Amino acid sequence: MAELEGLEFGKSDFVLLDEVTMEQFMENLKLRFEKGRIYTYIGEVVVSVNPYQQMDIYGKETIDAYRGRELYENPPHLYAVSDAAYKAMKRRAKDTCIVISGESGAGKTEASKYIMQYIAAITNPSQRKEVESVKNVLLKSNCVLEAFGNAKTNRNDNSSRFGKYMDINFNFNGDPTGGHINNYLLEKVRRGVGRMMEGLRLQTGDRPQKNKGVISATAVSLSTSNNDRSSHKAVMSALEVIGFTKEEINSIYQILASILLLGNMQFESDGESVQIQGLEAVNQISELTDTEPDSVSKTLLYRTVATGGGEVIEKGHTEQEACFGRDAFAKALYERLFGWIVSRINSVIEVKDYNPVLHGKNTVIGVLDIYGFEIFDNNSFEQFCINYCNEKLQQLFIELILRQEQGEYQREGITWQHIDYFNNQIIVDLVEQSHKGIISILDEACLTVGKVTDTVCLDSMDTKLAQHPHYTSRKLSPADKTMDFQKDFLVYTLTHFLMTPLSLPFAPFLSRSANPVLKEMWPDGHLSITEVTKRPLTAATLFKNSIVALVDKLACKEPYYVRCIKPNEVKSPVLFDDARCEHQVAYLGLMENVMVRRAGFAYRQPYARFLQRYKMTCEYTWPNHLMASDREAVEAIVTQHGFQDDVAYGHTKLFVRTPRSLFTLEQERAALI
Ligand code: ADP
Ligand code: MG
Repeated sequence: MAELEGLEFGKSDFVLLDEVTMEQFMENLKLRFEKGRIYTYIGEVVVSVNPYQQMDIYGKETIDAYRGRELYENPPHLYAVSDAAYKAMKRRAKDTCIVISGESGAGKTEASKYIMQYIAAITNPSQRKEVESVKNVLLKSNCVLEAFGNAKTNRNDNSSRFGKYMDINFNFNGDPTGGHINNYLLEKVRRGVGRMMEGLRLQTGDRPQKNKGVISATAVSLSTSNNDRSSHKAVMSALEVIGFTKEEINSIYQILASILLLGNMQFESDGESVQIQGLEAVNQISELTDTEPDSVSKTLLYRTVATGGGEVIEKGHTEQEACFGRDAFAKALYERLFGWIVSRINSVIEVKDYNPVLHGKNTVIGVLDIYGFEIFDNNSFEQFCINYCNEKLQQLFIELILRQEQGEYQREGITWQHIDYFNNQIIVDLVEQSHKGIISILDEACLTVGKVTDTVCLDSMDTKLAQHPHYTSRKLSPADKTMDFQKDFLVYTLTHFLMTPLSLPFAPFLSRSANPVLKEMWPDGHLSITEVTKRPLTAATLFKNSIVALVDKLACKEPYYVRCIKPNEVKSPVLFDDARCEHQVAYLGLMENVMVRRAGFAYRQPYARFLQRYKMTCEYTWPNHLMASDREAVEAIVTQHGFQDDVAYGHTKLFVRTPRSLFTLEQERAALI
């Protein structure tokens, strides 16, 4: 429970609501937003509302105020949770993680930056050079990943269409020694290159140099904000700080320029064969990628197919196939480049020469910045992936919170009371179970390329899942008047779910490139075409595998949560869109969170700390108590205020069931000081 700032700012912890109703929750959230209090707790969870304006709450004084303090000693803040995660890691040698979720534009990435900045600010007090340089690289890598991983969407100028998980490693001193990044990029096959590349553009005034037939690589800039040129500079300098060589940076921009050129490429057909319009682009791409012009056009116009007999033949593309291939080529370049950049950063920040005997236990704080549930009028494969991921995280959340509570009660010798909650395992199984889960049905459909249509695939799901209580389709319940699809179910449109895994005909020719970055991007380029096309994993399965691995990583850490809410769709610092916010509160599961928190003991505190805070409210404890133990002194306070039925006494801590009791105590304390 956070220190009360006075009621005019609303309740600083939702656990303190008089009643747990959506109405009260929303009223409090809105009041606090309007009063400029963007953070509110649910126990140890921070709920954050995007202020859409610069707040004066991230400076050095604020950092000092939160450093080493307990959660309830200051108003709610990201810094308090960062400090809690850091303390648990340092004092108890626990691996911890901070999970930041919310929809696009809710403030996740900003939050992750403040968390990293806080951790950087409170570590390495002796300013050791090696540690400073690790911190610097960790902070800069965020900038690079944001620049490359973002595509502009109309919902958010700076929207990451991917999740990012960063481990920060610490030595026994609690100083950062390195880290590791995992990125979760979403499939964008069908979005088209144009859309994907919105974040990239050629700088005006730096047109392709005609006489050389090549555009200069630096003509490409990454735009992550309105201020393209300065952010371009920031990215360049971040790349340098991280340790990318001049040649590597040059290669990166050459590849980006190639992607742009591909995006503009058109085809023409004379009815028989397909040609590339304007060969200049082909020459430019071949120069930029250090490959032969011939192999570039061949890749764009033909595909290699392995016949049943293991023979390899070349087949000309139709115009439509050529367009699809071009987009797939650009997309593959983009994804591989992004992957290469991440692994290059990882090679720089990975902890080297760590000797646990010499250096003590290496502990970790993980920071996860990941899209929350997304529910639109029309939900596609992308939402399906995002929402599946969130079901997994929700499951972990409930399990860990309950496990954490249970563990604490056991340690403290307090009887555990069972908490009833919706176990979403059934939803997770519906998606991921082998043989009869949605992903495995999709996989089957994708692997029978050409023959399976959306309708056939839907039929197959209907057959296999008809009995499932959480599955239905318009065909299974066509005239069911009692059912409101949009309300009772999350509806997905199956179109484009079936994505044939791509065979990559461009891999071999790119791995022969003289450009060292391109070569490294295609380590599998030497594989023969028959090997490459042998049952590649589908997008859904790849995504599932990465989420399962992520959950495994998180499950062994002590979790802290930041839940981000976007107050309106127009980036206004003053508008609180009630309906949109309520929607987010609902699907972030915040009400359930408050209930879980209140079902057990809403509040607990070590006896000594409790005394320190409230001893002035009781004559037997002020200024000092003469009792045999702190626990007895605490009992005196509790009895004097008449809430002895609302507490349990643990071995080292006092547990209070309802926040109301504390609230009275806080008010009395406030009146006295
Ligand atoms: P997300 O990562 O959830 O998509 P961002 O963190 O990129 O969202 O936030 C979107 C925009 O909202 C930012 O570019 C910034 O303008 C604004 N914003 C978010 N959080 C804050 C904050 N704490 N203070 C000021 N502005 C913020
Ligand atoms: Mg983001």
